[in-house]
Amino acid sequence: MTDCIFCKIIAGEIPSTKVYEDERCLAFRDINPQAPTHILVIPKEHIASMAEITEKNSDIVAYLFERIAEIAKAEGLDDGFRVVSNCGDHAGQTVHHLHFHILGGQPLALTMA
Ligand code: AMP
Ligand code: ZN
Repeated sequence: MTDCIFCKIIAGEIPSTKVYEDERCLAFRDINPQAPTHILVIPKEHIASMAEITEKNSDIVAYLFERIAEIAKAEGLDDGFRVVSNCGDHAGQTVHHLHFHILGGQPLALTMA
Protein backbone atom coordinates (compact mmCIF):
# COMPACT_ATOMS: atom_id res chain seq x y z
CA MET A 1 0.00 0.00 0.00
CA THR A 2 2.32 2.73 -1.24
CA ASP A 3 -0.08 5.63 -0.69
CA CYS A 4 -1.03 4.64 2.87
CA ILE A 5 0.37 7.09 5.41
CA PHE A 6 0.51 4.47 8.19
CA CYS A 7 2.32 1.97 5.92
CA LYS A 8 4.82 4.78 5.27
CA ILE A 9 5.24 5.30 9.02
CA ILE A 10 5.85 1.55 9.42
CA ALA A 11 8.44 1.71 6.60
CA GLY A 12 10.15 4.67 8.28
CA GLU A 13 9.39 6.94 5.30
CA ILE A 14 7.39 9.29 7.54
CA PRO A 15 8.69 10.05 11.05
CA SER A 16 6.68 9.15 14.14
CA THR A 17 7.11 9.18 17.88
CA LYS A 18 7.21 5.47 18.56
CA VAL A 19 5.93 4.09 21.84
CA TYR A 20 6.20 0.37 21.06
CA GLU A 21 7.20 -1.80 18.11
CA ASP A 22 7.54 -5.50 17.38
CA GLU A 23 7.33 -7.70 14.29
CA ARG A 24 3.53 -7.47 14.09
CA CYS A 25 2.58 -4.01 15.29
CA LEU A 26 3.57 -0.42 15.93
CA ALA A 27 2.34 2.13 18.46
CA PHE A 28 3.08 5.84 18.10
CA ARG A 29 1.80 9.16 19.40
CA ASP A 30 -1.04 10.82 17.49
CA ILE A 31 0.14 13.98 15.73
CA ASN A 32 -3.04 15.80 16.80
CA PRO A 33 -3.68 14.58 20.35
CA GLN A 34 -7.26 14.66 21.68
CA ALA A 35 -6.21 13.80 25.24
CA PRO A 36 -3.01 14.14 27.32
CA THR A 37 -2.13 10.61 26.23
CA HIS A 38 -3.18 9.76 22.66
CA ILE A 39 -1.49 6.77 21.07
CA LEU A 40 -2.31 4.90 17.86
CA VAL A 41 -1.79 1.14 17.74
CA ILE A 42 -1.62 -0.39 14.26
CA PRO A 43 -0.87 -3.77 12.68
CA LYS A 44 2.10 -3.87 10.31
CA GLU A 45 -0.12 -5.76 7.88
CA HIS A 46 -2.23 -3.33 5.86
CA ILE A 47 -5.88 -3.91 6.84
CA ALA A 48 -8.15 -1.02 5.81
CA SER A 49 -10.48 -1.04 8.82
CA MET A 50 -12.42 -3.17 11.32
CA ALA A 51 -14.82 -3.89 8.42
CA GLU A 52 -12.09 -6.08 6.87
CA ILE A 53 -11.62 -8.30 9.90
CA THR A 54 -12.41 -11.94 9.11
CA GLU A 55 -11.76 -15.31 10.72
CA LYS A 56 -8.52 -15.38 8.71
CA ASN A 57 -7.02 -12.21 10.21
CA SER A 58 -8.88 -11.65 13.49
CA ASP A 59 -5.97 -12.96 15.56
CA ILE A 60 -4.23 -9.61 15.03
CA VAL A 61 -7.05 -7.86 16.90
CA ALA A 62 -6.47 -9.98 20.01
CA TYR A 63 -2.73 -9.42 19.60
CA LEU A 64 -3.17 -5.64 19.40
CA PHE A 65 -5.42 -5.59 22.46
CA GLU A 66 -2.82 -7.51 24.46
CA ARG A 67 -0.30 -4.84 23.49
CA ILE A 68 -2.82 -2.07 24.29
CA ALA A 69 -3.14 -3.34 27.86
CA GLU A 70 0.67 -3.37 28.22
CA ILE A 71 1.06 0.10 26.67
CA ALA A 72 -1.66 1.56 28.91
CA LYS A 73 0.14 0.17 31.94
CA ALA A 74 3.52 1.48 30.73
CA GLU A 75 1.98 4.92 30.12
CA GLY A 76 0.60 4.98 33.67
CA LEU A 77 -3.04 5.04 32.62
CA ASP A 78 -4.03 3.30 35.86
CA ASP A 79 -7.12 5.48 36.33
CA GLY A 80 -8.57 4.33 33.03
CA PHE A 81 -8.44 4.91 29.32
CA ARG A 82 -10.56 4.61 26.19
CA VAL A 83 -9.93 2.59 23.02
CA VAL A 84 -11.57 3.83 19.80
CA SER A 85 -11.50 2.52 16.24
CA ASN A 86 -13.27 4.67 13.66
CA CYS A 87 -14.56 2.57 10.77
CA GLY A 88 -15.76 4.19 7.57
CA ASP A 89 -17.16 7.58 6.63
CA HIS A 90 -19.93 7.85 9.23
CA ALA A 91 -17.39 7.25 11.98
CA GLY A 92 -15.02 9.83 10.50
CA GLN A 93 -12.22 7.43 9.61
CA THR A 94 -9.52 9.51 7.92
CA VAL A 95 -6.67 6.99 7.62
CA HIS A 96 -7.69 3.74 5.95
CA HIS A 97 -5.26 1.48 7.78
CA LEU A 98 -6.71 -0.25 10.85
CA HIS A 99 -5.81 1.62 14.03
CA PHE A 100 -6.88 1.77 17.63
CA HIS A 101 -6.72 5.07 19.47
CA ILE A 102 -5.68 4.86 23.13
CA LEU A 103 -6.98 7.97 24.91
CA GLY A 104 -6.33 8.83 28.53
CA GLY A 105 -4.54 10.93 31.07
CA GLN A 106 -7.60 12.82 32.30
CA PRO A 107 -11.33 12.14 32.73
CA LEU A 108 -12.79 11.75 29.23
CA ALA A 109 -16.10 13.23 28.09
CA LEU A 110 -18.92 10.75 27.57
CA THR A 111 -20.04 11.33 23.99
CA MET A 112 -21.06 9.21 21.02
CA ALA A 113 -17.73 10.04 19.43
P1 AMP B 1 -9.05 8.38 12.30
O1 AMP B 1 -9.67 9.74 12.11
O2 AMP B 1 -9.75 7.53 13.32
O3 AMP B 1 -8.85 7.67 10.97
O4 AMP B 1 -7.64 8.65 12.95
C1 AMP B 1 -6.51 8.99 12.23
C2 AMP B 1 -5.57 9.61 13.21
O5 AMP B 1 -4.29 9.64 12.65
C3 AMP B 1 -5.92 11.06 13.58
O6 AMP B 1 -6.14 11.16 14.98
C4 AMP B 1 -4.67 11.86 13.13
O7 AMP B 1 -4.35 12.90 14.01
C5 AMP B 1 -3.62 10.76 13.12
N1 AMP B 1 -2.50 11.00 12.22
C6 AMP B 1 -2.54 11.35 10.91
N2 AMP B 1 -1.31 11.46 10.41
C7 AMP B 1 -0.45 11.17 11.43
C8 AMP B 1 0.97 11.12 11.54
N3 AMP B 1 1.78 11.37 10.51
N4 AMP B 1 1.50 10.81 12.75
C9 AMP B 1 0.71 10.55 13.80
N5 AMP B 1 -0.64 10.56 13.75
C10 AMP B 1 -1.21 10.89 12.59
ZN1 ZN C 1 -1.41 0.84 5.32
